[in-house]
Amino acid sequence: MKYDKIYIDGEWVTPSTSDVIEVENPATEEIFTTVAKANSEDVDKAVEAAARAFKSFNETSYEERQKYVEEILNGIKERQEDFEKVIRQELGSSYNYTKSAQVEQVIKEMTLALENADKVKFTEHHEGFDLVREGVGVVAAVTPWNFPLNQIQRKLTCLLLAGATVVLKPSTKTPVSAFLLAEVIDKTSLPKGVFNIVPGSGSEVGDALTGHEKVDMISFTGSTKVGRGIYEQAKSNIKNIHLELGGKSPNILLPKGDAKRAVKQSMDAIINNAGQACSALTRLIVPESRLEEVEGYVKQYVEENVRVGNPEDENNTIGPVISKEAQERVYDYIESGKKEATLLIGGGRVESEDKGYYVEPTVFTKVDNNSKIAQEEIFGPVLSIITYNDVDEAIEIANDTTYGLYGAVFGENDEEAYDVAKKLRTGSIVINGAARNPAAPFGGYKQSGIGKEIGWIGIEEYTETKVLFKE
Ligand code: NDP
Repeated sequence: MKYDKIYIDGEWVTPSTSDVIEVENPATEEIFTTVAKANSEDVDKAVEAAARAFKSFNETSYEERQKYVEEILNGIKERQEDFEKVIRQELGSSYNYTKSAQVEQVIKEMTLALENADKVKFTEHHEGFDLVREGVGVVAAVTPWNFPLNQIQRKLTCLLLAGATVVLKPSTKTPVSAFLLAEVIDKTSLPKGVFNIVPGSGSEVGDALTGHEKVDMISFTGSTKVGRGIYEQAKSNIKNIHLELGGKSPNILLPKGDAKRAVKQSMDAIINNAGQACSALTRLIVPESRLEEVEGYVKQYVEENVRVGNPEDENNTIGPVISKEAQERVYDYIESGKKEATLLIGGGRVESEDKGYYVEPTVFTKVDNNSKIAQEEIFGPVLSIITYNDVDEAIEIANDTTYGLYGAVFGENDEEAYDVAKKLRTGSIVINGAARNPAAPFGGYKQSGIGKEIGWIGIEEYTETKVLFKE
């Protein structure tokens, strides 16, 4: 299937350029489809449409906006298998992970956002004044490729419920999911101009969009490097900004914590999505005295769970990384790890697959927290095991990073783990392997970003607060 039109002002329209984006399957290296590309003229049209739509959309009732989001949710459910197929093709996420964590997660988060929506107080009455929340205006949403639908959903659900309108620039690596979403939205009764899509490269279309004078807020998910540039750009006309950036998240095994479960939590994080998740727990911080036990569990996990290969085969647990460039980048990190630390598992190229950007899952042990592999986000299936001598040192190591997105603590009991978690400078922390609740907000400290996504706090992010004084 080819997509030769873009979605602006409630219509599929011919873009101003005949250039296309070629979409590659990272498991086979084949270009499996092309999609239309927008340019700065299209960005202008899309932003104008979103600005026109904003006035009346912002005046709709919250109940009406909930109804639109519900229609989109139902449309996604109806096409769940189509989305999953496309996500396997354009991202290369393994069959079972795509099934359990890509579209399912979208459905859960949207459902819970709708259920919890009444926690947002659009009007609060106070002594002598009312506090009114309303949509922030036109949002420029720029998204990455690692969760092609969910990274969009996290912005879209919340901003629609807030009463804002949007121009979306999806990643050029995974644009097809965004086109499917536009097809779903086209079948709903969402007013025209509220949702618009401008596919194209970050340097051209992304830059034109985030710098557009009629954009009121930028909501960006991606690398800290690009986020920093967008932050700079936003300051010139004082736009609202939301940034979801990178991470180098710690997983602390306390002296009497469950080592097997702690290992599983970090290993799952580097296997799922081939480690391409900003929240991946890529620094496993363990007591020096338990290192051998931890290493044993890592080897056991690999033997029992790791099978690298094409996502279309349900038995494979890890697919390729997103591109040739990403594969080379991850291998460079692995080479640097070999010089800085001790290789425990992996470290070679995947020989069984002659095509595709596969990376052998790799674990380094006795890693110094100051080394490159412990400090920089690798965004691939690579784990560093770091040792400590006392709990204060473990906390210091965990916090010794420019990032602060996610974390985990495994202790003898929840109280002990909770006490340590409170000392970590990071946005979310899993206590003793607890499940992540999709109603909870998500976002980082430090250079992992600004603001929170998902749930009612995520909705508030896309509002402005107005104070009305009255007798
Ligand atoms: P990038 O930061 O390279 O790209 C993210 C998006 O920004 C893409 O759509 C990209 O377009 C666009 N973009 C690039 N340059 C500009 C620009 N100058 N102006 C506007 N938009 C621009 O990240 P990746 O897509 O490579 O994703 C991987 C990185 O993102 C990782 O480092 C990871 O840590 C981070 N990330 C963080 C998440 C979080 O929730 N905190 C979630 C997912 C990823 P193009 O199509 O050209 O690439």
